[in-house]
Amino acid sequence: MRKAQVKKRIIKVPRNCEFCKDKKEPQFKDVAILSKYVSERGRIIGKDRSGVCAKHQRHLARAIKRARVMALLPFVAGL
Ligand SMILES: [Zn+2]
Repeated sequence: MRKAQVKKRIIKVPRNCEFCKDKKEPQFKDVAILSKYVSERGRIIGKDRSGVCAKHQRHLARAIKRARVMALLPFVAGL
C-alpha cells in the first residue's frame, strides 16, 4: 500500500504581531483581544494563520486556556 500523499497548503501570513507592536503580553482578562484569535468553533487560531510571533503565540495559547477555565471564553462553541 502506498502512503497517501498529503499536500498541505501553506498560506503565508505576514508577521505583524500586535503584542510586539503594542509592547504588551496576552492577558486572560482581555477577552476582546483573545476572542480575535479564537475561531467560531472556539478553537485557537494556529500560528500559520494568526500572524502572531512564536513567543506571543505561546503566551496567547496559555492566556486563552486560562480564559476558558475562568469561563470567559468557551471550550467549544456553536454546537
Ligand atoms: Zn510578538
